Amino acid sequence: MTLPSTMTICGVSWKIVLMPAKDMWEKTGMSLFGHCLEASSELRLATEMEPDKEAQVLIHEVMHAVCENNGIKMSEKDTRVASNVWFCVLRDNPEFVEYIMKAGKES
Ligand SMILES: [Zn+2]
Repeated sequence: MTLPSTMTICGVSWKIVLMPAKDMWEKTGMSLFGHCLEASSELRLATEMEPDKEAQVLIHEVMHAVCENNGIKMSEKDTRVASNVWFCVLRDNPEFVEYIMKAGKES
């Protein structure tokens, strides 16, 4: 499965940027595997992650972007819980995902 290069989050286009973890750590001063930059609308992901971890971190950064787009402050712990819940719900319920995607669009 190919990682998308952009996402629309709450009506705003965000770029998904892959970079080595050491570059992200140098830029942020923190040992992160993902980073949400509101000013440039970028979701940065470390290149070293396995695909399932990459997807989990992407959902986490999407949660940060949702908060940024809506002026909401969530703690890192709350963001981690909410993003992990969505990661699990989406991964464990493909019929739910299909229903959400198609509801009201079928003729
Ligand atoms: Zn975070």
